[in-house]
Amino acid sequence: SDLYGIDDWGGGYFSLSDNGDLMVMPSPGEIRNAVSIPEVVEGMKARGMDMPVLLRVENILNSRIIELNESFLSAINELNYGGSFIGAYPIKVNQQEQVVEKITQFGARYHHGLEAGSKAELIAAMGMQTDKKAPLICNGYKDQEFIDLGLYASKIGHFCILVVEMPSELPLIIERSKALNAKPVLGIRIKLSTQAGGHWADSGGDRSIFGLNTTQIVQAVDLLDRENMLDCLQMVHYHLGSQISNIREIRTAVNESCRVYAGLFKEGANIKYLDLGGGLAVDYDGSQSNFLSSKNYTQSEYCTDIIESVMTSLDEEKIPHPTIITESGRSLVAYYSMLLFNVLDVTRFQPEPLPDTLPEECHPQIQYMFNALETLSIRNIQECFNDVLFYRDEVRKLFNHGKITLRDRSLAEQIFWATMNEIAKKAKEMKHIGPELEDIERALADIYYCNFSVFQSLPDSWAIEQLFPVMPIHRLNEEPLRKAIIADITCDCDGKMDRFIDSHGFKRYLPLHELKDSEEYFLGTFLVGAYQETLGDLHNLLGDTNVVTIKILENGEYEFVGEQEGDTVANILSYVAYDPKRLLVRFRKIAEAAVRRGKISPQERREIMQVYEAGLRGYTYFER
Ligand code: PLP
Repeated sequence: SDLYGIDDWGGGYFSLSDNGDLMVMPSPGEIRNAVSIPEVVEGMKARGMDMPVLLRVENILNSRIIELNESFLSAINELNYGGSFIGAYPIKVNQQEQVVEKITQFGARYHHGLEAGSKAELIAAMGMQTDKKAPLICNGYKDQEFIDLGLYASKIGHFCILVVEMPSELPLIIERSKALNAKPVLGIRIKLSTQAGGHWADSGGDRSIFGLNTTQIVQAVDLLDRENMLDCLQMVHYHLGSQISNIREIRTAVNESCRVYAGLFKEGANIKYLDLGGGLAVDYDGSQSNFLSSKNYTQSEYCTDIIESVMTSLDEEKIPHPTIITESGRSLVAYYSMLLFNVLDVTRFQPEPLPDTLPEECHPQIQYMFNALETLSIRNIQECFNDVLFYRDEVRKLFNHGKITLRDRSLAEQIFWATMNEIAKKAKEMKHIGPELEDIERALADIYYCNFSVFQSLPDSWAIEQLFPVMPIHRLNEEPLRKAIIADITCDCDGKMDRFIDSHGFKRYLPLHELKDSEEYFLGTFLVGAYQETLGDLHNLLGDTNVVTIKILENGEYEFVGEQEGDTVANILSYVAYDPKRLLVRFRKIAEAAVRRGKISPQERREIMQVYEAGLRGYTYFER
């Protein structure tokens, strides 16, 4: 059964096989070509690619591009919309060369373009985009160099749109276009009064950082008119924020932007593009709701609602329908990557067997605790819970003041955990339990130590508590009997995942299988293709993971089309300004000094140096 809610969050790309493997499909529901993820892991291991690995399935990216474009095309056809649709992928969502290259390749049939928010992104885009019909949209704060690059891009035939984000940019753009004799296509980023909920709400609304308010828009029109450049102004742009969970907010913003579009049309601008920015959300928790990690609309509803809203707003004023542009990134790339890692160890909070009676000299507080356990029943469950927590804290104080021994404290901790386990068992028989008792499940959950870094690979999980689906990739025909939370290998107390997707919000533990001595246990975190790779940091100097890309062929066949080795220790040290060669020379001297002092033999020095050098060349993660 679908214990992990795959059908809800998987977008049709994942399923279970009869032998309990998690399968991945090239497009939604294409089960005949499904590939076993554990088999891919075996193939990676055979090729020497150690865990953790970021696995990309390039067919999924292709499928997402098709789905976005075709959904807009069918909404356009169904509603008889007079304009068309073009997508522009925002490079910031995943800047990796391989990702951008594949997007331009798979998106070519739709002239799917790119969006750049900085000079570096524009330079990447200009080098990657060869399709001259695909838009190259320049957002972000612009200096002269940025503007010149955009103008040159236009000159060499790119369909480059310079978006005015700040009033101060326009005079510079006008001056540089004259100087370079380049006629730009201009867009204006507008500030909407509509504001969406969610983590990124500040991108929209009156107080948004970027964009022009209505007075500034009118001033821009007047300036362009005076310069005889009003025909350059062709696009209205806004960005309400990423991961907009509520479709009603999307509609409200479209309506408001159409009013500005209509206004500019009437002012005589050569306006024909309406760029709605990003916002198309991903249903990470599968709840199909307006929770932050979800969305309350489908892809086709999104497209239909946008087209319908634009038509309704502009038909009233008899204004021709624009080409609609969206800058969806999250929804295009999230599904295509998964982070796979192995479990290294488990800590269980299970009590050791207790003695039948306590030693005579035992401190009364420990005795009270023991009595509470002995008299526990469904009727006094809350009272017993309160008591045992109180006595546990008292015992800790006694220990800290040197009043009881280490063994006494250990006994008290065992009684505490035994009582918690008994309370959890009894709580299952009860119809209603209070929130405190509900939390016991979390307190008793095992800790599964896993070979990855939350900070490097799932930064949004740590920084903004975003939920991602996590589950085992095999043994899915066995009932998972353990309840667990996940700890990474950073030894930081924030390096954990203890909130997991659930259709009612989130749950505090993940059902997992017991570890077997003879077999490794692998987990995956899914839908991690958007934002996670470059937002990650080098906490504890754990670096980029290995990246493997597969292409699914027919009948479950697949090929490895890309392998990118993760950072070595030497790479990581050089990012923080060490020179690995100099480090080696220094350490050699330190080891030589140990030989001189007679601490080690010259042979031992050689062995130590070999280990040190191999360490520098090695992977930053746990290696078996
Ligand atoms: N366009 C702009 C201007 C953005 O700032 C962003 C990111 O927030 C996007 C597009 C991407 O939006 P999404 O994450 O919703 O795909």
